Amino acid sequence: MPELPEVETMRRGILAVEGATITAAEKVKCRRKPITISPGMSTIRRRLVGKKVKQVGRIGKRVFLQMENNDRLLFEPRMTGLVLVADPPSQQHVRFRLEFSHGEKEVLYWDRRGLGMIYLLNDQQYQDRFSLKNLGPDALEVTGKLLKEIFGKSKRPVKVALLDQKKVAGIGNLYASEILFVAAIHPAKQCNRITMSQWDLIAETTIEILQTAIEHEGSTLSDGTYRNALNDPGGYQNMHRVYDKEGETCPICMDSVISRIVQAQRSTFFCKSCQKRS
Ligand SMILES: [Zn+2]
Repeated sequence: MPELPEVETMRRGILAVEGATITAAEKVKCRRKPITISPGMSTIRRRLVGKKVKQVGRIGKRVFLQMENNDRLLFEPRMTGLVLVADPPSQQHVRFRLEFSHGEKEVLYWDRRGLGMIYLLNDQQYQDRFSLKNLGPDALEVTGKLLKEIFGKSKRPVKVALLDQKKVAGIGNLYASEILFVAAIHPAKQCNRITMSQWDLIAETTIEILQTAIEHEGSTLSDGTYRNALNDPGGYQNMHRVYDKEGETCPICMDSVISRIVQAQRSTFFCKSCQKRS
């Protein structure tokens, strides 16, 4: 957490700064574990203040501000980071702020655990860092053919494979369980045993679930951490079918209960009846 739908919601929440000029950049004094900000603040100020934001973008699970010279300031929320335009959930976890010309609200970066990162890259650094060697295609743009090309020869369990950001960007632990449940694929099924029509189904389901989750502004779990840019909770948690529902009746077969297994140290939720292994 947050995954593609939550980060895309953050991006949409700060779109108003497109076309505005940055007038101040400040690392906010915070007594918690400091987040990584690179390069140093004096360099960040020199390269950003007085510059106009050309575009607010997203790459995988990161939001960025792209300047006219294609410098990009990236916000990588990792576990508990938020990009906000409204009052933050708590003042003591605000880490960074930007001010803008002509009255747009400021943009804040908030992070309770402080595992997130903020970094400025020039265009070449950005292209190198996010080349297809380092980051897979965006999950909203996958096709069955593409997934088969990427994963078709792998013996990894499909749930674990879908989390690999070098292969496909944006899917995390929550949405992987939801996608495989709706596609009726067992999460431990080896990728090389998945048929072309099943890859088609996984691709279609991925896009449909992620888009619906974006429409509902992401999932705010019981810890309440994830908020949109206005510090409001998302709504997709009310539509989860299996995630964190161990022991509840399956919403499809209405017979089996949702099971939990651990794969690569992460919980996976699924229905043994609806998601057969063979
Ligand atoms: Zn079921």
